[in-house]
Amino acid sequence: MKVVPKEKGIYSFSKDHEPVESVDLGEPILLEAEDAVGGQIKSEETPIESINWSRVNKATGPIYVKGVEKGDTLVVDILDIELAPQGVILVVPGAGALGDAEFKPKARIVKIEKGLAIFKDVQIPLRPMIGTIGVAPEEGEIPTATPYKHGGNLDCIEVTRGARLYLPVSVDGALFAAGDFHAVQEDGELCVSSVEIEGKALFKFDVIKGKKPNWPIVEGPAHYSILVSDEDLDKAVKIAAEEAVKAIMKAKNWSFEDAYMLSSLQVKIAVNQVVDPKKGVRAMIPKTIVSLDDLLYES
Ligand code: CA
Repeated sequence: MKVVPKEKGIYSFSKDHEPVESVDLGEPILLEAEDAVGGQIKSEETPIESINWSRVNKATGPIYVKGVEKGDTLVVDILDIELAPQGVILVVPGAGALGDAEFKPKARIVKIEKGLAIFKDVQIPLRPMIGTIGVAPEEGEIPTATPYKHGGNLDCIEVTRGARLYLPVSVDGALFAAGDFHAVQEDGELCVSSVEIEGKALFKFDVIKGKKPNWPIVEGPAHYSILVSDEDLDKAVKIAAEEAVKAIMKAKNWSFEDAYMLSSLQVKIAVNQVVDPKKGVRAMIPKTIVSLDDLLYES
């Protein structure tokens, strides 16, 4: 099986990055990943001031996926996520939902034991997830710390083991990359970081030809979630609601009014994070209401 080491990574998504590996559709590939702080904090004594911020949020890749072209949907199966025995969480003045409060920079090492993350005297069941996952955008270069239509720093707890992600492809081969694993996170990611942890993830790719979603979509057991990002949280919610209502209209062949009403009853709007350069929300639509095809558009 192909294995991509954590050293082979990028700090931005761009069509100009040379692929470090290529893979066939259906062929499993294992990506190793640094933690989001580039492995620079191994102990609580490491001063936060010593962090080289140009070496954070690396994504392993890019991977050229054969048979995938501009205008397609890249289907990403997250088959497994394996975590290192410890991770780190940190707070930095100026960052996070309470960035303007009075506090000092601080890191805590979080041990992983028997399926739990140990934070002081609080034991939290693990929910391994991939924070940063995406493909090259059509134009320009998007830092790996920013989420957008190409994916990126989505920090969505639904992007977990067993989930399937649908990404709009803008360049041939997609140029997929992933990193920034979390052992556990809750919606909002309030303090700006989670249990940031080194790990390995096993992926498999498929393609849907000639159609793509407007925003990344993650499929869980019961829902399709549309992942929308914007600097303004209200605007992100509005776009997510528009996308959800549009999908219901298509699925049911209903008027705007009826689809809008059903959205109030069945579409859950949840906040992925409020701390990245663009804030992220998701519209979770039950799979009993829409099918995948209702979420994809002709290229
Ligand atoms: Ca992140």
